[in-house]
Amino acid sequence: MFQKILIANRGEIALRVLRACKELGIQTVVVHSTADADAMHVRLADESVCIGPPPSRDSYLNIHQIVAACEITGADAVHPGYGFLSENAKFADILAAHNITFIGPSGDHIRTMGDKIEAKRTAKRLGIPVVPGSDGAISDEKEARRVAAEIGYPVIIKASAGGGGRGMKVARDETELDIALATAKSEAGAAFGDDAVYIEKYLEKPRHIEIQVFGDGMGRGIHLGERDCSLQRRHQKVWEEANSPALNAEERSRIGNICASAVADLGYSGAGTIEFLYENGEFYFIEMNTRLQVEHPVTEAITGIDLVHEQIRVASGGGLSVRQDEVRFHGHAIECRINAEDPRTFAPSPGTITHFHTPGGLGIRVDSGVYSGYRIPPYYDSLIGKLIVHGRNRVECMMRLRRALDEFVVDGIKTTLPLFRDLVGNPDVANGEYDIHWLEKYLAETAE
Ligand code: ADP
Repeated sequence: MFQKILIANRGEIALRVLRACKELGIQTVVVHSTADADAMHVRLADESVCIGPPPSRDSYLNIHQIVAACEITGADAVHPGYGFLSENAKFADILAAHNITFIGPSGDHIRTMGDKIEAKRTAKRLGIPVVPGSDGAISDEKEARRVAAEIGYPVIIKASAGGGGRGMKVARDETELDIALATAKSEAGAAFGDDAVYIEKYLEKPRHIEIQVFGDGMGRGIHLGERDCSLQRRHQKVWEEANSPALNAEERSRIGNICASAVADLGYSGAGTIEFLYENGEFYFIEMNTRLQVEHPVTEAITGIDLVHEQIRVASGGGLSVRQDEVRFHGHAIECRINAEDPRTFAPSPGTITHFHTPGGLGIRVDSGVYSGYRIPPYYDSLIGKLIVHGRNRVECMMRLRRALDEFVVDGIKTTLPLFRDLVGNPDVANGEYDIHWLEKYLAETAE
């Protein structure tokens, strides 16, 4: 087991990882920018190292400073959290070259899944169902027309190097295709320095359903069920739940087993999420994330398995603590992402939190790094906390969520809490009847 882990992140996820380390009796080092000197994870860690000024590229993305912090403090492993360097293959390679363990998969696995064309090809080879589309990058308009006619309109053009919903364009018929192709290519080139794009069938009313997987790096793979993350705004997840209201036990185990054997075949090590669009009873692979996800606590709630403990165990060579036949799903869990944003316009609302009171009681978990008197720095993303509620079934979970939202107090800034208070009372949400476009439509219809 590791003696000392360096946590290369900030905010609620730094605290989340720190908690797991403490439980396992592992010493902790955190790194922070000058803007985060008074952050909670800095206060609670055994050691802390200031690695630079506020902008992320000078601090949380500064590989040399982070490796230097490992050397100075004698950390033998790094947990990257999510975002920042968590899917940076070069970072994983550099740590390996310094004999420091990256708590995550190999640089090669990160690289394969980071290139969407390569990821889709790999998924297909491993028996994972994919969205019908081009076999690889599209070279010109003629090829685009041929592929689109074959799979049928509407189609979506996506950047191979894509992320964060950028570089995607929908074409509803052939007249829209040339312009969609040109725009997607130039957006991709500008945003990612790589203008390779591919085409796939555009699904009209899918749900976003993702499977949590784990590999032990020695040929064993398991799945921990799915999360339904269909409630999104601008491709950003807002509300996540497990189980999905749309799946039955048979579908869950069928897609779960396909994903588990895929990670086993890959020799994958650590946590991963295989993301799908789901429509009319069929799953279509869109991408794999090779890291811990923001929404991992809903899986922890229904399985009772601590995913960060598991990541640390696997990275230290200790293997997985559970076999597939020991994984059980209990009840229902929902996560609400609480952002420092206007609940309607989503404009950022940094500032000082004058009062912060979190709900409690049975089935309630709040993961947050903020406190009364905390000043939210304007440099980073606006997530200030996550409310995770667990119940024996979805009805009980929703009742408890409504109560917990009423109890949550954040004064001094605007937050997305009022949006969740609206959503929890909405009949479509109560019935679990929503697809990936539902929230955008709801926001447009209820705008003042
Ligand atoms: P990114 O990495 O940029 O987030 P993804 O491939 O994960 O890109 O897709 C992001 C979102 O775009 C999906 O959650 C979905 O809302 C939409 N999307 C992607 N591919 C399709 C498709 N073939 N049909 C319909 N919507 C899609």
